[in-house]
Amino acid sequence: MSNFLAPDYKSLVPYTPGEQLNYKVIKLNTNESPFPPSPKVKEAINGELIDSLRLYSDPEVKHLRKAIADEFGLEAENVFVGNGSDDVLAFSIMGFCGRGGEMCCPDISYGFYPVYADIFGVNLEEIPLEADLSIDAKKYCNKGKTVVIANPNAPTGLALDPDEIEMIIASNQNNVVIIDEAYMDFCKTSCVALVKKYKNLLVCRTFSKSHSLAGMRVGYGLANKELIDDLNRLKFSFNPYNMNSVAIAAASAAIADNEYYGRNTDKIIEIREKTKERLSEIGFEGTDSKSNFLFEKHKTVPAETLYNELRKRGILVRYFSKPRISDRLRITVGSQSDMDALVSALEEIIKELS
Ligand code: PMP
Repeated sequence: MSNFLAPDYKSLVPYTPGEQLNYKVIKLNTNESPFPPSPKVKEAINGELIDSLRLYSDPEVKHLRKAIADEFGLEAENVFVGNGSDDVLAFSIMGFCGRGGEMCCPDISYGFYPVYADIFGVNLEEIPLEADLSIDAKKYCNKGKTVVIANPNAPTGLALDPDEIEMIIASNQNNVVIIDEAYMDFCKTSCVALVKKYKNLLVCRTFSKSHSLAGMRVGYGLANKELIDDLNRLKFSFNPYNMNSVAIAAASAAIADNEYYGRNTDKIIEIREKTKERLSEIGFEGTDSKSNFLFEKHKTVPAETLYNELRKRGILVRYFSKPRISDRLRITVGSQSDMDALVSALEEIIKELS
């Protein structure tokens, strides 16, 4: 750390992203899609687009906002687009909590929520998950502060029912409720329809998971026009060109091919369920994940040992050395052949160690 970093930021503990290695591994550590982007994306980011890069990108992201709105039966004024949903979450926590403001989220959830609370000077209440790692929706009612919930939650994969989500939104109408639906395409119980009903709901979504565009960095928020105007006020005061032209073109092409992504999502759900079954046959027990990852513990071999042994064999999964979840691995659902390799490696490791 230099002597020049402002004291406000000296104690920050940054978010730790999953490793991105530059050699070939079976990569099941950051919940990316095993499928390539739609061929329409490849077409869209070729050729003519390159010439247009001398111009600034559209700061209002009009075309993509309209395309996203159409997909959800909303208007473009209900859509905010960000550089990944991390960007949307950052603007939202900054704007709706404010320095010295208050927010709550589950104690075991997406690791960026506490980091954003910290950098924006927000007081964070972390509400413990239940013993079975589920969220008790009642604990998020009438909070009198901004509520942030990932649904399905990460890394547990567990989802709340739509009526539990509505109960939380309805009981917190003086505060914004941010529902992070990064993994919702794998669960299919979105609360987006409630955007028309509640002025305090902001739904965050991403092209990084079901839409195979993690490297492109495109996420979006869906909400009532006033909340979207607030987010734009912040964005236009910070970085009006937060979306580059290539990302805008790629995401616009992607959303035009939802048939392709729908098929991929269904395959991932099918592979998830099959893999879960095979893991249970070799002594694992997992949560009922509704996401594109599994969250599993083995009855005899510690998760950290499994993580290290898999890594030696070129298979990367995610291990969190955090109380209450240090006995588990978070395993992204990859292609069928990735999962075959994973299960064989685990069988071998468990046999060796038993
Ligand atoms: N929310 C959750 C729950 C996530 O797991 C992630 C991915 N790490 C994100 C948001 C951010 O995704 P992105 O910025 O790639 O859209």
